Amino acid sequence: MSSAASYRARSVKGMRDLLPPATALWAHVEETARRVFGRYGYEEIRTPIVEETELFVRSVGATTDIVGKEMYSFADKKGKSLSLRPEATASVARAFAEHLRERPLPVRLFYIGPQFRYERPQRGRYRQFHQIGAELIGDGGPWSDAELVLMLFSFLRALGFADLRALVNTVGDPSSREAYKKRLRAYLEPRAAELGEDSRRRLDTNPLRILDTKKPAEIELLAQAPRLMDSLSEESRCHFQDLLRALDGCGVEYEIEDRLVRGLDYYTRTVFEIVSPSLGAQNAIVGGGRYDDLIEEVGGPPTPAIGFAIGLDRLIEVLPQAARRAAVEVTGLYVVPVGDISRIELLRLGEEIRNAGFTAMLELSSVSMRTALRRADRLGVRWAVLLGEEELGRGTITLKDFRSGEQTTAERKALGADLGRLIQGASP
Ligand code: AMP
Repeated sequence: MSSAASYRARSVKGMRDLLPPATALWAHVEETARRVFGRYGYEEIRTPIVEETELFVRSVGATTDIVGKEMYSFADKKGKSLSLRPEATASVARAFAEHLRERPLPVRLFYIGPQFRYERPQRGRYRQFHQIGAELIGDGGPWSDAELVLMLFSFLRALGFADLRALVNTVGDPSSREAYKKRLRAYLEPRAAELGEDSRRRLDTNPLRILDTKKPAEIELLAQAPRLMDSLSEESRCHFQDLLRALDGCGVEYEIEDRLVRGLDYYTRTVFEIVSPSLGAQNAIVGGGRYDDLIEEVGGPPTPAIGFAIGLDRLIEVLPQAARRAAVEVTGLYVVPVGDISRIELLRLGEEIRNAGFTAMLELSSVSMRTALRRADRLGVRWAVLLGEEELGRGTITLKDFRSGEQTTAERKALGADLGRLIQGASP
């Protein structure tokens, strides 16, 4: 056993710390989601990180990779199988069925939080990752699908994404989907030798998933396969047509992507992704779909619903410059003592600045003014406030703008107004 002194703690493989300054980006994205989703009437829900394993088996599906291979499942002290949530829709559906079914429908909910999948860690894939998602529960019509897509466009535009496009498809209702699975299987079985190992396995368990293969040979083989669109019931076809009409009517750029099925078992009818073509091969920013049977599946009344999940880790990686700048702009003031001014005076000035509505970071250690100013500069702070005996005697402070090098004087009696005028009035 290693001695205590030689133990060097490390984070668990596939799980990472989110550190400053990047956490400012995370906060900015989360605040933007709250603001934009709030404008559409969505309210926040926070569900537990741990659920009964059975919830995910019944909802996400026993044959999916997520449930089959990737869940962090464990037995609790009474032997009950629990799992860290690998996604949030199942939990939200459960929470709705358990607590919110009496609320007027539809119920609009959003969530922000970590999810857990035991995947092979690779660039951009983590075992603890983060999602922002929303669910519109209790309306089965195509206009709800359109509202969700519009909300996503609004959110992503607020973050500075410009070239957005929705990919939409329909996987039909369960009966038309079952009919299609049979036709797809009948087409693929005689050609099974041309399929890769994963797709051959899926032929039995979940043939729809073969449609979203990335293998060129399989894509070619699928080009001649029967199309799901041709197996749709009249109702599902109308639903899809109405969604397309709504997207047209609201000026949303979209493409029908008939190989888009998405990984989870619970989807019915509409599935969609939003892509930013400039991001290259991995261009999907968000994916979602309708799940009209899920809530009943987890013990609630029959209730149609639709939702999406955005992978936050990936979103942060590809965040446009504008959002990065907005997030890290440090508007704080770095308060620097001149000479051996009392630290109590410094603490008091800090409180005054904050009470006036500004952020103040104090230089409390006994370093030289030069060192303190260098620290402020390295932190990316634009403004320093100098406080020495002279300022103290006059009831003023000296404000230094690192960008222009200019120094100005502000009255402590009118700190809010003076700082506001000087900072907001400064050239950018
Ligand atoms: P899914 O629930 O599989 O449809 O995934 C929704 C989004 O979550 C994807 O677009 C990914 O960006 C993100 N995501 C899924 N798994 C991971 C992971 N292991 N690491 C990082 N992001 C993930």
